[in-house]
Amino acid sequence: MTRTALVTGGTRGIGAAISIALKEAGMKVAATFNTDEPSATRFQEETGIATFGWNVADAAECERGIRKIADEVGEIDVLVNNAGITRDASVAKMDREMWDAVIDTNLGGVFNCVKAIFPGMRERGWGRVVSIGSINGQAGQFGQINYAAAKAGLIGLTKSLAREGASRGVTANLVAPGYTETEMVEAVPEKIREQILAGVPTGRFSRPDEIARVVSFLCAEESGQITGSTITVNGGHYMH
Ligand code: NDP
Repeated sequence: MTRTALVTGGTRGIGAAISIALKEAGMKVAATFNTDEPSATRFQEETGIATFGWNVADAAECERGIRKIADEVGEIDVLVNNAGITRDASVAKMDREMWDAVIDTNLGGVFNCVKAIFPGMRERGWGRVVSIGSINGQAGQFGQINYAAAKAGLIGLTKSLAREGASRGVTANLVAPGYTETEMVEAVPEKIREQILAGVPTGRFSRPDEIARVVSFLCAEESGQITGSTITVNGGHYMH
């Protein structure tokens, strides 16, 4: 049976690697973006994966976008909540707007997608929800109370969703990457990147395809007994 997958923020960085991995696993894939349409168009041309643009933080846009994907690609069996942003600052410098932007996107965006997709998965008796957390939601990080709160929130959301889906063949899991080679990490100043790297036992950052491999594993038909878990992919940077 061919499953249909939606990967939010699936046109760049870790999300792009996930979209490709799920396509290689035999799924029909829809990848979303927010504002970077040129990257999305390039990605669609290179991979043949359909792309759709909307802001996951906006519930109405989310509902419309998901309905469009259901009509054009298929009812969504696999939801990967990958879209995420950072707005870093110490508490003293963080304003309410920076707090809200990150909570609304990284946590609210997941609620919006789950709300629109999860009930249908339960009704049809099969589904996979994988959300992308972060090492910084597990260990905390200076300058990231907004980001760490949102990513830690996803752990509780995932465990609760796992309980709601369990009797109907729907699993929910979290993949928590460590620092991974994408534009998000390239934006971190070189000196801080070196300090971070010194704390990674494997001596390197993760690659997007290494995150994608775990997501693809969790989305497989055979992974129905794995639910409510957090799997870290961080080179041993944080162990729990
Ligand atoms: P990128 O910044 O490279 O890509 C982010 C993607 O999310 C883009 O496709 C972007 O769309 C999309 N996006 C952002 N905001 C929205 C929104 N409001 N609505 C819809 N789409 C949106 O990020 P990464 O690949 O680095 O990160 C992916 C995920 O992994 C994130 O959740 C991040 O927090 C998490 N993560 C990343 C780590 C890292 O080291 N890179 C480490 C741990 C976790 P557009 O292209 O239009 O901007």
